Amino acid sequence: NDFSDLGLKKSLVSAVNALGYTEPTAIQLQAIPFVLANRDVMARAQTGTGKTAAFALPILHRLSDTILDTPQVRALVLTPTRELAQQVYKSFKQYAENTELTIGVAYGGVSINPQIAAINGGIDVLVATPGRLLDHLINESLSLINLTTIVFDEADRMLDLGFKDEINRILNRAPATRQTLLFSATFDNEIFKLSKSLLTDPTIIEI
Ligand code: AMP
Repeated sequence: NDFSDLGLKKSLVSAVNALGYTEPTAIQLQAIPFVLANRDVMARAQTGTGKTAAFALPILHRLSDTILDTPQVRALVLTPTRELAQQVYKSFKQYAENTELTIGVAYGGVSINPQIAAINGGIDVLVATPGRLLDHLINESLSLINLTTIVFDEADRMLDLGFKDEINRILNRAPATRQTLLFSATFDNEIFKLSKSLLTDPTIIEI
């Protein structure tokens, strides 16, 4: 099994091969076909399982079918912490190395202005924490009108940190027709409740 068997573009396969990934991990094998097929996915996967590439590679694959002159945010990844946002951003940049896609990141605790400038410059994928993302939406420095995919990474930690209200306010400003992916280290009642409100007919994956 290798990444091209999953139907991923050469530009993406070569980028992950350059990082030393030879074979997809279990979560990648299970999730990538469903994400490529535009399905909603709810996946239980811990950090260290390769979950980032499990959503990043198929998202980049689909976005790279259409390269926009002025990129618009078409995929949004929400993370509970700025550290995770930085890490996911770095992974996306590495995976997108051989594509024309641009990646941005937005989190709190730092000046908002460089983030606004980056968004105005055009980005295809935005990785963000919920509070700062909401600031951008309220400021109207960002629109989610072109969003096709939204990812909730470490959704259990997002709930633990009390981001439920932010999540709902963000979703109110996102298109109703979209692909939604939810990754969580744990599956409990709260996560199932959240998934019911976010996902449509999801494929459930547990590794
Ligand atoms: P993650 O669970 O996304 O935080 O990934 C954990 C680590 O595994 C990261 O350092 C990745 O670079 C690495 N990784 C992800 N997918 C693969 C793969 N298919 N083969 C080898 N390493 C991988």
